[in-house]
Amino acid sequence: MDARKLKQKPESGTVYLVGAGPGDPELLTVKAARLLRRASVILHDDLVPAEILALAGPQAEVSNVGKRCGAKGITQDEINARMIESARCGLDVVRLKSGDPGIFGRLAEEIDALEAAGVPFEVVPGITAGIGAAASLGVSLTDRRTSARVVVVTGYHARKNRPQEKPDWSTLAREDVTLVIYMPGHVFSALRDELLAAGLAPAIPALIVSNATTARQRHICTTLENLDRLPRMESPSILLIGRPLERALRAAGAANPSLALEEVDLILSSL
Ligand code: SAH
Repeated sequence: MDARKLKQKPESGTVYLVGAGPGDPELLTVKAARLLRRASVILHDDLVPAEILALAGPQAEVSNVGKRCGAKGITQDEINARMIESARCGLDVVRLKSGDPGIFGRLAEEIDALEAAGVPFEVVPGITAGIGAAASLGVSLTDRRTSARVVVVTGYHARKNRPQEKPDWSTLAREDVTLVIYMPGHVFSALRDELLAAGLAPAIPALIVSNATTARQRHICTTLENLDRLPRMESPSILLIGRPLERALRAAGAANPSLALEEVDLILSSL
């Protein structure tokens, strides 16, 4: 063999930026499952459940690079460096994120880093939590009779850490919009007041879903007016607000807009 060829760097592996879906392993795409079986390196976030990680092949080195429970104090730069380093060694990497990688998943930053390093990559979409949560409760996010648009925002973090990113409810919160609020936190009194101040009707349905699509899924249906009275739900949870959720409200037997906290308890315990 040509000596120069021997000295050449190994051909780069590919980094697959893959959505793991909202939790139910059956909601993983066929492509994601195939890539997981074949990858040499899997770098996953905290929210990816064990049943999905169990699909990794025996050859895979699997690491939790989540910022909450994973490698303590790992930075985004370190995650980028690990992807790039593994690909440069010729290994295929699956960077596995919950839901869809392009929804609040720092996908754009990772693409920038891979592109700058000249590492080939591919994005594999997944079912995002808001879509999974709506489906699991049998509701549509749009309804041409009531809601023509869906607005996807973050709640708590956007407010606390980056006040400049606080949603402008005067333009976003409208009667014909369904709001899908990721990372909503646990205290909704300020949100309730802001949405009412923006002109939303107090009786608009609100739905909080925790651990959507998993065996631990819990949900509470209420109305905007009563949003501040909800008990704390387990993380991760997502908040949906909008007219098309009326069906879930009716199904919970809570169509009464002046829902009392006892009734909330009742709904919770009947889940
Ligand atoms: N890329 C992910 C979102 C990551 S941000 C996606 O597309 O779904 C993390 C937030 O997503 C959580 O704080 C929570 O608001 C939401 N989330 C993720 N999985 C969830 C689940 N199974 N049930 C409810 N909310 C979930």
